[in-house]
Amino acid sequence: MKRRFVNPFKVKGEWFKGNVHTHSISSDGTKTPEELIEMYHGAGYDFLSITDHSIVLDTSGLDGNGLLLVPGGEMCIGRSEAGQFYHLVALGVEKNLPFKDFDYNLDPQEVIDHTNAVGGITIIAHPYWSGLNHGDLMKLRGYHGVEIYNTSCAYERNTGLSASHIDGLIAAGLEPYIYAVDDHHGAERPQVPIDACGAWISVKAEALSVKHILDAIKKGYFYSSTGPEIKDINIDEDGVISVECSPVKYISFVSTPSLGMKFHAEDEPLIKAVYPGRPGETYVRVEITDYEGKTAWSNPIYNS
Ligand SMILES: [Zn+2]
Ligand SMILES: [Zn+2]
Repeated sequence: MKRRFVNPFKVKGEWFKGNVHTHSISSDGTKTPEELIEMYHGAGYDFLSITDHSIVLDTSGLDGNGLLLVPGGEMCIGRSEAGQFYHLVALGVEKNLPFKDFDYNLDPQEVIDHTNAVGGITIIAHPYWSGLNHGDLMKLRGYHGVEIYNTSCAYERNTGLSASHIDGLIAAGLEPYIYAVDDHHGAERPQVPIDACGAWISVKAEALSVKHILDAIKKGYFYSSTGPEIKDINIDEDGVISVECSPVKYISFVSTPSLGMKFHAEDEPLIKAVYPGRPGETYVRVEITDYEGKTAWSNPIYNS
């Protein structure tokens, strides 16, 4: 079986950990950019995008203190079938997007096309929380990826996991990349943990610079996690997929509807699984889950 995969485990570079969806007091977050830098740097992150609503924060005067700041913003526009906004995160944009935020009449495709035209990329944020259905998502083209997990939506509303939205798109022939993000706001509410440092992407890049990180993200050299580590994905000449990872309870090969495979740990945690695939599959993506329910997601591997 021939496979097509942008494999970050087989390219040169170092791993850098980052969160690409965060809010500060410039929109509806509770922390200053300096406080965000301190918090994420202290938690071992290498880069951060502060993606405030309606505004691309000018980070030129900020000292990241070793934490790289990747410019970005978030727009809430358009109207889904359920009457809700689409939320789009734009990364790699230097200036405010030339649109009015919170505009039901603005077509989200216009924001995606503009972001691409200025060299950025768009991520569709938290489709489950937004109430976007398959038809809403299928109208859009040209975006880079979709959030599979959003810490803020998970902690506050239990609508953080959008895996089935993404699988619906892939099964329909689209090829989105998969992102796990915090969407940190920092609202302190009783019985709700702070939505920080809970989800990230690990990017394989040659160096820690805005250009290198964005280039690597654009190429797909990353995977997402809320805890466990994917150490290697190997595909042999027969298309057999081998995964190595930190100790986990489950290793799943999520695939075309009704196909795929899930391996369960028995006496020992799993650190490896091998999957040859099944006839009829058009894609496979790797999902590993540890004993605390924390998960890592590879980007999709396509059968060609
Ligand atoms: Zn949002
Ligand atoms: Zn947000």
